[in-house]
Amino acid sequence: MIKLDSPSIKIVILGGLGEFGCNMMAIESGEDIVVIDAGLGFPPENTPGVEIIVPNISYLKENQKRLRAILITHGHEDHIGALPYLFSQVQVPIYAPPFAYHLIKQKIKGNFLVKDKKWLNKIIIGDYYQIGDIKVEFFPVNHSTPDSTGIILYTKAGIILHTGDFKRGKPLIGTNSINWKMLYERLPSRVRVLCSDSTYSIVSGNSEPDQIVEPHLADIVKKTRTKVFFSTFSSSIGRIKQALKVAKDHGRQAAILGDSMSKKINIARKLGYLSGFENTVISVDKLKSLPSHKSMLIVTGSQGEKNSVLMRLTRGKFKGIEISSGDCLVLSSSIVPGNELKVAEMIQKLSVKGVKVIDQTKAKIHVRGHALKDDLKELIKIFQPEFFIPIHGQYEHLLEHLLIAKEAGISRENIWILERGNVLQISSKGSELMSPVPSGLVYLTGSARHIIDSSVIDNIIDVGGNGVLTISLLINLSNKNRELKCFVDQIEFTASQDVLKNIKDYTQETLETAVAHGIKLGRLDSLMIQRVGQYLTMKNIPHPMIRINIINPNKTK
Ligand SMILES: [Zn+2]
Ligand SMILES: [Zn+2]
Repeated sequence: MIKLDSPSIKIVILGGLGEFGCNMMAIESGEDIVVIDAGLGFPPENTPGVEIIVPNISYLKENQKRLRAILITHGHEDHIGALPYLFSQVQVPIYAPPFAYHLIKQKIKGNFLVKDKKWLNKIIIGDYYQIGDIKVEFFPVNHSTPDSTGIILYTKAGIILHTGDFKRGKPLIGTNSINWKMLYERLPSRVRVLCSDSTYSIVSGNSEPDQIVEPHLADIVKKTRTKVFFSTFSSSIGRIKQALKVAKDHGRQAAILGDSMSKKINIARKLGYLSGFENTVISVDKLKSLPSHKSMLIVTGSQGEKNSVLMRLTRGKFKGIEISSGDCLVLSSSIVPGNELKVAEMIQKLSVKGVKVIDQTKAKIHVRGHALKDDLKELIKIFQPEFFIPIHGQYEHLLEHLLIAKEAGISRENIWILERGNVLQISSKGSELMSPVPSGLVYLTGSARHIIDSSVIDNIIDVGGNGVLTISLLINLSNKNRELKCFVDQIEFTASQDVLKNIKDYTQETLETAVAHGIKLGRLDSLMIQRVGQYLTMKNIPHPMIRINIINPNKTK
């Protein structure tokens, strides 16, 4: 008899570790590869033109023949947002829980995916799926969007448990969440690898139940005799359901304002997640004829997004609706890092108008959607996995989760802090890092971040591993304030400060010479890219993607 190698698995990190967003990992078991999640991230402020970031998927392209499935844990953008891009490059069946399934279907409308059922599969939470050699189980978890799941992979080399995004407690919508102890007891063997959500690993304590929000919201609505505006993330259907319940209980009717909100609420209604509110939800036109104290508006814009309904309302009327002195605005969400300033400005403007703004600092109208320190520790203690990998988070979150795992009894050498490109092999010999796979980020430009249909794919620029260099040219040729300036920004492009300074000087010189010689602004792009390219070649520096951004302050839109 031929002696076969003992089975091993490889965990390949494609994104989401050491960064916020872009969650994607692949698992190789024998000849089969499955991917868990395909998320997007948002670019830092200093990348003009870039709308979203997605992981580089060269590894998946190279291994397409062995690629069996993309498994989706839930419908947040940091878990599904890269799918249209991914699918434009590699065709592979997608398995997603119901709410995410419908979101994905909308994203790729028009794509052949929708026409051929084998590509997009709606899973039943709690069921098992045999994918190649791997048995896959989707189990229910509680999180801030409906139908959130964790995934168990039963492989020949053992059980991999991936928590997805989760918190403790009962979901506001749909299936009850898994009982970790019961899950532990029914598993056929010890968990080999536990991959757990690190998003809030730096926050002490236990996560709060979502149910506590409702009475606080009711209290606000009861005391208000004017219009109530309610804003949260459009995917937080459970929270929206709470707002509708409070509206109904207090004799109010509600209209939904904002495309992303309406789309997601429609999916939720189709899935039966908002039944009982047929008479509560009305059109904006109907709402206009109601007295203020009988109406509620559920709107987009809790993050101060430029084109959201709330931002439009701060500027004036939207669809005949006005937010004015005495009205009440409930902001039922936390602020995504990076949006603090925008939100503060919005609140300031509304307060000046005389709007009463209630955010989470003023009342318990929001609770976090991820597990906190004590929840995370409890989970590790229950499973006592052989290996532990903190996932979903920046380094500080992963490192904090490492300490939690140590406290929960996992030995340091069995905890792996991984990052994009890393390949961890688990075999009978234990765990070891293998040579990395190509990885990096892909920057997608587009008119908006709702891009995401196949037409945008034309705009995709693959950056590979060398990062992005953005050169912004400020060109003001008016006689009075003549200005020619260059700004250089880098992402993932690891050049020294000296090199960056040289690039800046070089581009400044090129800009001045070009303008002095009357070169058309339209030609500056290619000229700059060419010149910077020459400099990099001369210095023997690997070329990043170069983006040129021309700012002309006198040009009116
Ligand atoms: Zn999530
Ligand atoms: Zn997430």
